[in-house]
Amino acid sequence: MAISSDISEFYDEEYRDTIATVDKNGKRIWLHPKKPKGSFHNKRIIATIVFLTIFFAVPFIKIKGEPLLMMNIFERKFVIFGQVFFPQDFILFGIGMIIFFVFIILFTVVYGRFWCGWACPQTIFLEMVFRKIEYWIEGDARQQQKLDSGPWTSEKVRKKVTKHAIFIFFSIIIAHLTMSYMIGIEETLRIATSSPASNPTGFIGVVAFTAIFYFVFTRLREQVCIAICPYGRLQGVLMGKSTMAIMYDFVRGEPRGKLKKQEEKKTTHGDCIDCALCVQVCPTGIDIRNGTQLECVNCTACIDACDEVMFKINKPAGLIRYASEESIEKGTPFRMSRRAYYYSAVLLMLIGLEAYLLIGRTMVDTTILRVPGQMYQEQPNGKISNLYNAQIINKTSEEIDVTLKVAENKGRIRLVGDKVHLPKQGRTEIIFFLDMDKKDIKQIKTPLKIEVYQGNKLIETIKTNFLGPEQ
Ligand code: SF4
Ligand code: SF4
Repeated sequence: MAISSDISEFYDEEYRDTIATVDKNGKRIWLHPKKPKGSFHNKRIIATIVFLTIFFAVPFIKIKGEPLLMMNIFERKFVIFGQVFFPQDFILFGIGMIIFFVFIILFTVVYGRFWCGWACPQTIFLEMVFRKIEYWIEGDARQQQKLDSGPWTSEKVRKKVTKHAIFIFFSIIIAHLTMSYMIGIEETLRIATSSPASNPTGFIGVVAFTAIFYFVFTRLREQVCIAICPYGRLQGVLMGKSTMAIMYDFVRGEPRGKLKKQEEKKTTHGDCIDCALCVQVCPTGIDIRNGTQLECVNCTACIDACDEVMFKINKPAGLIRYASEESIEKGTPFRMSRRAYYYSAVLLMLIGLEAYLLIGRTMVDTTILRVPGQMYQEQPNGKISNLYNAQIINKTSEEIDVTLKVAENKGRIRLVGDKVHLPKQGRTEIIFFLDMDKKDIKQIKTPLKIEVYQGNKLIETIKTNFLGPEQ
């Protein structure tokens, strides 16, 4: 994100030419962030418990036998809030996706990367699960550095083996969790409890996901947020001067300087004592005092670190806090920008359209076409018949029977049996004859409607046409 000239006078812009996690030779700098602690971190622990409970509970929650959320890309079956969406619902699904992306854009324009710090599974698992295990086994940043740079003693081997065994265990759990969102909890549990030989595909899936998550949480780590996550890459274009972000109050903090004599400090320096604790706790290795940067995942660790320093030097907390660049610059309260209002209007319109389509969505989807290459046939009783092919999709979780009728009694449908049986969430294909009286045929192609009934309830009306002799 670009910073205004007013602010840039405080900053050394050189940091923009480098990445905190890459050295001059292009080699990765392995970060050992200091263990975060403080009131924001405590709130994040509560948020983590809530989100992890949700992540693990959702695959078990059913609505009318369907999962609350499932994205089965293999069978092209998507379930959202217990509603099953098939490829035939692609318009509805597409609009839902557009609404989702517009919501993300709107949310980011107003609240920045709030999602990344508090709810993103990557941050939650990395910072609140994997890194916590690391602190527990290897100690805080300094002990970790010492351990990594030291020789392979028996203690180092013991710590590393224990840590990676636990990491693999958690990667296996996350792999199963991911699969339960893709293929459902029953199938995931079946794979987990059966031998690899009885379900090699499922087993390969679990192994592949475990390897990916292990690699992400042990090696890739912050690089996912910095270089891979498309949402992270979007920040530069979505965030503006009025966006809420974790900001360093440059007006209050600058000119920064080491705390020496209190009298001198009062007259010549701002509140920042240049202790660099905010940098040492940062899991992406940046200095937030340089302004909002793409790498910042809004983890709040620097707020807690700086608040603790401010407390020790008897200054008010909040030198680093949630604020917008504009509000710090002008000393005004945080306000939504005009752009955010426009995005809200677009979002509301899209939600209205989605609601309209959802209300009108049928649970049975029928396609009726005349059999290609077939002309009409004259029957001995004087009627004219056409041959049709119907594909009927049952999107519900129950088996149902439907009947087909020609609207306004303009003709009669002949098929084997009275009813068409539809398996749950299945597709049925039938062929039938439709007979019409010659007197009702006025043109070569007579438009007509075929009604689909479940019991006495009309559930769908399909338009088609009927070929006959010109009168
Ligand atoms: S923790 Fe606070 S006081 Fe210390 S360097 Fe960072 S902004 Fe300055
Ligand atoms: S700058 Fe602060 S909020 Fe942003 S990632 Fe670093 S520690 Fe977290």
